[in-house]
Amino acid sequence: MTLKYCQGPKCHTYHTKDRLKGIKGSKTYQTRRKSSMYYGTGNFCSMNCYNDWAETFIDRAIDHFGRTTGPKHLTEDKAWTKRYRWDYERHNGQAQHYYLNTITKEERPLTESQYDDSTYTLNER
Ligand SMILES: [Zn+2]
Repeated sequence: MTLKYCQGPKCHTYHTKDRLKGIKGSKTYQTRRKSSMYYGTGNFCSMNCYNDWAETFIDRAIDHFGRTTGPKHLTEDKAWTKRYRWDYERHNGQAQHYYLNTITKEERPLTESQYDDSTYTLNER
């Protein structure tokens, strides 16, 4: 079990009991260190620390990895989403699963197992 440090730049400035470490006379507030953290894909101990990181570094990170400078396009061939609805009159209270193209509004029937299958898609890759 490896312990990781929270990547929040201000983690050590939050005055909580669990961050206060060391022996009497030389105690310090320290960056949290844990085996697992839930925020920012396991890099941050809290939303606060995640937000602190973003405020400090996000512009540099975006510039480094490539800033979006124009619109991206989701085309018709990739606009299929899985949906379901309850139609009591036609389907006896059963959920009706279907594919909806959110651009063309075309609907195509879908079985429940296709709906549940995360690898099944009409979207072109
Ligand atoms: Zn933290």
